[in-house]
Amino acid sequence: MRLAGLELGGTNANLALGSPREIVERCRLAVTDGPDTLVRIADQLRQWHEQQPIEALGIASFGPLQLDSGQADYGHIVSTVKPGWDGADVLGALQRALNCPAKIHTDVTGAALAEGAYGAAIGCHDFVYITVGTGIGMGLIVGGKPVVASLHPEAGHLRVRRMEGDRFGGVCTYHEDCLEGLASGPAISARTRQPAHEVADDSPIWPPVIDALAEGCSSIFLTLASERIVLGGGVINQRHWLVEEIAFRTAAKLGGYLPYIGERAPIVAARLGADAGQRGALILAHQALQSRA
Ligand code: ADP
Ligand code: ZN
Repeated sequence: MRLAGLELGGTNANLALGSPREIVERCRLAVTDGPDTLVRIADQLRQWHEQQPIEALGIASFGPLQLDSGQADYGHIVSTVKPGWDGADVLGALQRALNCPAKIHTDVTGAALAEGAYGAAIGCHDFVYITVGTGIGMGLIVGGKPVVASLHPEAGHLRVRRMEGDRFGGVCTYHEDCLEGLASGPAISARTRQPAHEVADDSPIWPPVIDALAEGCSSIFLTLASERIVLGGGVINQRHWLVEEIAFRTAAKLGGYLPYIGERAPIVAARLGADAGQRGALILAHQALQSRA
């Protein structure tokens, strides 16, 4: 199988060639404005395609994305303030370069699919992947499928009840009290006025960050009755101890209400690390191939 996967992030575009099980070649490109970046990605894909044809392409991209295939702007980035990306036709530009089946979804959905197939949620049909990184994003898998409705869910911006005494202003420009604003990497930096990776494990900022993440997780369990929540992203991947704290705190907030959750909520660390997005993109490529067959 010769598939191409693209993880399109805010800073880097990670391209992978191979299958979801095995990546045989990789390429990383810097993300600048939309048109320039898409031309460079298309050039790289074409180069691989000329060596040996690529059968399908999968894209796991930052959003917001139009994922309704009935809309004229299907596969475009919709209404972003990111310079040069508003309305960018990501799917169309890259599909035209290869002329093969292609599928696009959000970056967090890609990571969720990969964790579900090869990582921390193998065997789960109902689970949520949460990335805690530059932003907070959630990939919601219900009945084995990613949730998409009017838009893909943006549950990283769930409003959360603050821990008592937490007076941090938050970093989200849209909301005062949302999860991303209170607990993302930039929120951790702003709370401490130092780079997030330099914050000591015993800093007093961790309890309100853990509490906010537990608020988000308890809302997910109440809303979706998920079997499991998988936590990933730069903050969690570098500080696995947070997962235990969040798991116990979440259960405490649920107060025994959900019969399947005892004193520790089913929350685990992601297993695929930085590869999750690319492997998720390759899973999307595989799905594109299958749906054409
Ligand atoms: P992105 O969300 O852009 O895809 P990552 O998932 O790698 O990227 O997350 C990057 C974020 O993780 C940054 O805000 C960074 O400060 C934060 N981060 C990286 N290392 C640590 C660490 N050791 N502790 C806390 N935060 C960290
Ligand atoms: Zn917000």
